[in-house]
Amino acid sequence: MAGTAAAVQELDEHQRVALDACVVAALALSSSEGGAKERMRLLMECHGRYVRSFGGREQAPSYEVFTGRLCGSRVADLLPGRPQGSVLGEMWLLDGDGMPNSALHRLAVEATEHGHQAPGIGADIRHLHSLLRAVGMLPVSTGLSRISGETVQHAVFRTLRAAGFEAYTRGREAMVRTPVLTRRELSRNTALVELGAYAGISPTRQFAGQWAACPMCKWTMRATYRPNGAVDLDCEDERHSLLGARYRAEPTAEGWRLAPRGELRAVPEPLPVEGYVALPYALWLWVTLPGLLEVELRDRLVTLGAEVRLWPFGDAYDLHVTRPGRSRAWRVDVKTWADPYGLAQKLREDPEGSGELCFVVPEHLRGYLPLLRRVVKASGARVLTDVDLVTEVEGA
Ligand SMILES: [Zn+2]
Repeated sequence: MAGTAAAVQELDEHQRVALDACVVAALALSSSEGGAKERMRLLMECHGRYVRSFGGREQAPSYEVFTGRLCGSRVADLLPGRPQGSVLGEMWLLDGDGMPNSALHRLAVEATEHGHQAPGIGADIRHLHSLLRAVGMLPVSTGLSRISGETVQHAVFRTLRAAGFEAYTRGREAMVRTPVLTRRELSRNTALVELGAYAGISPTRQFAGQWAACPMCKWTMRATYRPNGAVDLDCEDERHSLLGARYRAEPTAEGWRLAPRGELRAVPEPLPVEGYVALPYALWLWVTLPGLLEVELRDRLVTLGAEVRLWPFGDAYDLHVTRPGRSRAWRVDVKTWADPYGLAQKLREDPEGSGELCFVVPEHLRGYLPLLRRVVKASGARVLTDVDLVTEVEGA
């Protein structure tokens, strides 16, 4: 998916407008939320923007052709000038049956100016808009696609820090470990209540008044109604879904039952929507996901007897690790980018300089260690996988 963000960056202004219109239209077509009239109006609006994006350079498709092509066409083929050679040439928004692609929500958040209008995910995006405005981060007319995940992270963490270091660490850890909370649990964390990050569970991630958590990140899985009345549940994280966070929910006489669609045999329990609150998509994407390895690593190191401080010194890096009675210390910055080349670029740009720091990447990126080590060589930083770090701390 990091490849998708890069591919979107390479589009020209016309192609971006067209992509925006296609993504919102695909969401409107595949959602059952809202009235038919509302959806029709939204689709017409999208078509209007789509036609204008062609700017007379090519013949723009009619409304019927536009909506018809959204199902089963590669994204690149929908855009003016048909950009070649990127992942957009390999992915579609809706498959031949009109079922949404797993990337659709992410595109709505990261690549559209009008995603807030879309059914389902639009509510998430509007929630994030108002949160960012409340912390003074987002001018009224700016869309999310104009600001980076890092900017959002920064704004959220800065707001939490205003409540004191303790509240900051506790709030941030909660957003990583518990992206879904009961309303009672939330009410006990003042900093989180004031931040206003949690809200009712999105309709796109509930079925028959229920929801189910991804076994890996604990966030609400996306619910897609199949034509036969069953519901597919998938973690929005492609990696989690591939590793088995995908299930089928079917109504039975005793209520809804979940069955695995992947390798993972552990089946989460469906829970009532009532009484629970969840992070919106973008905060799960930009705060929960990158934080998972950080808190996991902390837990593993503490088990070994190490002392670990999470996000020390105003978030200069992620973990400060020491072993009682020994002089050695580790300053660890965890990097979880899905795209190692993007990560290499990021390390190259690190303005702080990275002397004495260990960058830790997930074990599944081990193959990229030589590349990443070449990148940070001059700075004196090291690059390890999480498994390497645990072994090193254990042996020290
Ligand atoms: Zn997950």
